[in-house]
Amino acid sequence: MPFTLPALPYPADALAPTIDAETMSLHHDKHHQAYIDKINAAVAEDPALAGKSIEALLASASSLPDPVRGNAGGHWNHSFFWEAMKPGGGAPSGALRQAIDAEFGSLDDFKTRFNEAGVGRFGSGWVWLIVGASGGLEIVSTPNQDNPLMDDAPDPGTPILGNDLWEHAYYLTYRNRRPDYLKAWWDIVDWDRAAERYAEAVR
Ligand code: MN
Repeated sequence: MPFTLPALPYPADALAPTIDAETMSLHHDKHHQAYIDKINAAVAEDPALAGKSIEALLASASSLPDPVRGNAGGHWNHSFFWEAMKPGGGAPSGALRQAIDAEFGSLDDFKTRFNEAGVGRFGSGWVWLIVGASGGLEIVSTPNQDNPLMDDAPDPGTPILGNDLWEHAYYLTYRNRRPDYLKAWWDIVDWDRAAERYAEAVR
């Protein structure tokens, strides 16, 4: 099987109470595993897909059947998402902080706009902080399991942070209150990892 489920970088209960342990276990062990099982099944049935990296699949997303596209995106997005968080969170510093302040005015203004973009996504999808085509920071949202690495992304770029807007990401604790989940999520953002991604993206 070409794709396998990455282990969570922390215990399933480590992000509580921001994200409860049951949500983390279901999200990782069931939802993410299902995307992997389905992309592996699709690859097994189509020799043209065999041996391609997940990034290569995303780079040709416009030519993939919808289920293959969705499951490839689902695998990449969730692998990224687990690493975007850590127990205890923190705050951005250095070059990423300077870029956020320059682009959005302040960290709080950035968070507000990111949250607004997340609330504004109708249905399921993701909200991202990316380094866009111009080289600057942008907040973008994608539907379903799309992401800014797909060749037909309307707002392409390199993801620095991403939050999952699917109800399975927050429903057990926050029920229908997506805005509350988005606000709370900042407590567990791994800004050190985000800073690494930013440094790689602008290098
Ligand atoms: Mn999810």
